[in-house]
Amino acid sequence: MKRDGGRCQWVRADTHRKCLQPATDVDHILNDAAGGTDDDTNLRALCTTHHRWKSSHEGGQASGAARRAKRDAAPKPLHPGLVADKRELEPPPF
Ligand SMILES: [Zn+2]
Repeated sequence: MKRDGGRCQWVRADTHRKCLQPATDVDHILNDAAGGTDDDTNLRALCTTHHRWKSSHEGGQASGAARRAKRDAAPKPLHPGLVADKRELEPPPF
């Protein structure tokens, strides 16, 4: 926070300039789940708005990753037309 002068270090995508609003939070640039550390190089000051935006965006990514992991772990249901049932391979009883 001291290093960043108490100002938000978020770089706006439209102007490519830092937000520079008074910072309220210290952000992990690379979050814990992604292997980020508490090292100074991974920390920056952010205003409430940008920290909330980033955190909610990361939350969405995390739940998306969890959803994908769950989907990939579950066996894919076969299309009914592709299900090979033993009974279907035997001649009909008439
Ligand atoms: Zn900001």
